[in-house]
Amino acid sequence: MTSAESVSEPDCLFCKIVAGQLPADMVVSTDRVVAFRDIDPKAPVHVLVVPRDHHGDVSVLASSDPALLSEMVAVADRVAGELADGQYRMIFNSGPRAGQSVFHVHGHVLAGASLGWSPA
Ligand code: C5P
Repeated sequence: MTSAESVSEPDCLFCKIVAGQLPADMVVSTDRVVAFRDIDPKAPVHVLVVPRDHHGDVSVLASSDPALLSEMVAVADRVAGELADGQYRMIFNSGPRAGQSVFHVHGHVLAGASLGWSPA
């Protein structure tokens, strides 16, 4: 399967971004993962790391395809190295109470500043 044939869900926002049907400010693209800037940034660098294939939740992905999750972390590392000083926070919101609003797995990469620690 090529990247143009990613497994997608018709109503998924991030599937549409992966397919190029919606715009995004892409910063990294690999065979299985893309990374683009968040439209509502919470840090000087705020990038979303997203698998091309549709997976709803990170906890399921961790069991079903741990290599893909590992690749997402490697892409986060690359993003932080290219756009900031290599130091970063990676966050996965899992479930609505944790703040997940898009149900296509994505890791938030925050970098470019000293980060506070007050999620609640
Ligand atoms: O973790 P959560 O599901 O809430 O994260 C979704 C993120 O997707 C938000 O930070 C939102 O700003 C971002 N987003 C985006 N581009 C869109 C729609 C949402 O970067 N077109």
